[in-house]
Amino acid sequence: MTQIQHGFATRAIHDGQEPDPRTGAVNVPIYLSSTYELQGIEKHRGWEYSRVSNPTRDALETSLASLEGGASGHVFASGMAAIAALVTMLSAGDHVICGDNVYGGTTRLFSQVIVRHGIEFSWVDTSNPDNVSRAIRPATKLVHIETPTNPLMTLTDIRAVANVCHEHGIPMSVDNTFMSPYFQRPLELGADIVMHSTTKFLNGHSDGLGGVLVANKPEHAEAFRFVQKCTGGILSPFESWLVLRGVKTLAVRMKQHDENGRKVAAFLAQHPKVSHVLYPGLETHPQHELAKRQMSGFGSMIAFEVGTRANADKLLQSVRVITNGESLGGVESLISHSATTTHAALSQEERERIGITEGLVRISVGIEDVDDILNDLDQALANL
Ligand SMILES: *Cc1c(COP(=O)(O)O)cnc(C)c1O
Repeated sequence: MTQIQHGFATRAIHDGQEPDPRTGAVNVPIYLSSTYELQGIEKHRGWEYSRVSNPTRDALETSLASLEGGASGHVFASGMAAIAALVTMLSAGDHVICGDNVYGGTTRLFSQVIVRHGIEFSWVDTSNPDNVSRAIRPATKLVHIETPTNPLMTLTDIRAVANVCHEHGIPMSVDNTFMSPYFQRPLELGADIVMHSTTKFLNGHSDGLGGVLVANKPEHAEAFRFVQKCTGGILSPFESWLVLRGVKTLAVRMKQHDENGRKVAAFLAQHPKVSHVLYPGLETHPQHELAKRQMSGFGSMIAFEVGTRANADKLLQSVRVITNGESLGGVESLISHSATTTHAALSQEERERIGITEGLVRISVGIEDVDDILNDLDQALANL
């Protein structure tokens, strides 16, 4: 926690990334070594075997812990591997409260895999903290939320839910993938654990998968270090290095994502072919005040409604600068049809219940020249 005195952009460039003590290299080397020379029985230089720890991975874990203001970082081979590691804290008989509109892969992992291990889930609309209070049972051992949600951009008041959790001594984890620590730091608002798919904004270049858990409490740090060693789903040295490289430009990228995101949202909101736009930065967003309070920017994730599946299809086939593809958070703009991609695992009824219609399109606004993005959307929407 000694790094906190520096600003965010400085920490993103320097924390965990000091020049290499041996050579002075300003970039952290990629330590492609599975094992390390020991100096005697039970004597080592800090590293024994790379499943346990690796210097490149250590650098990334230090960096991400610093950016979230946490005590320790633990990186995994993907965001899903990080969430799977998170729930190893639990035992059969435990109960989890999970947001009802979290990432589709999280829903699939919990409801099709983890549930078979004797852990029960309640799916709750966490945008109202009272719903969380009401769902708490004696066996509740974790509250997991995502804010804003994908793709509906519904917010949860992190501080309010953290207060409920703390009253009952229940740890709270937040999937902070959509905002990145640049715009939202859940630990500062009372959460205990932050999770990210580093695949998205943290890496930022759509060239590698990864996930992280940032812990604030020693018992969680110890549990996550132990699960890295026991299950081995850790991030490779090369991919750790890619995220380190990405993180150095996180501050400038996020500023540009946010600037472009606001302009694209405003453009879509006045477009006659678009019936509504979901973006926390718009004054029409029902939780705009909460967004201003708990986030320092609005990011670049926008969902909007074009009426029918046929219209959505036409739009996705007509874009030229923007790419029709899943994922988000890279420098390039990506557009996708939520009902058939990220939320295909849900039944039509489940999708309709939460509001993911056939005409809903999600865009991750990149950092290209914003006029090129706007012109591209304009020409593509003209085909509808
Ligand atoms: C992508 C994503 C995940 C899963 O991460 P992977 O790196 O694809 O395994 C989890 N949560 C959110 C919000 C995501 O966008």
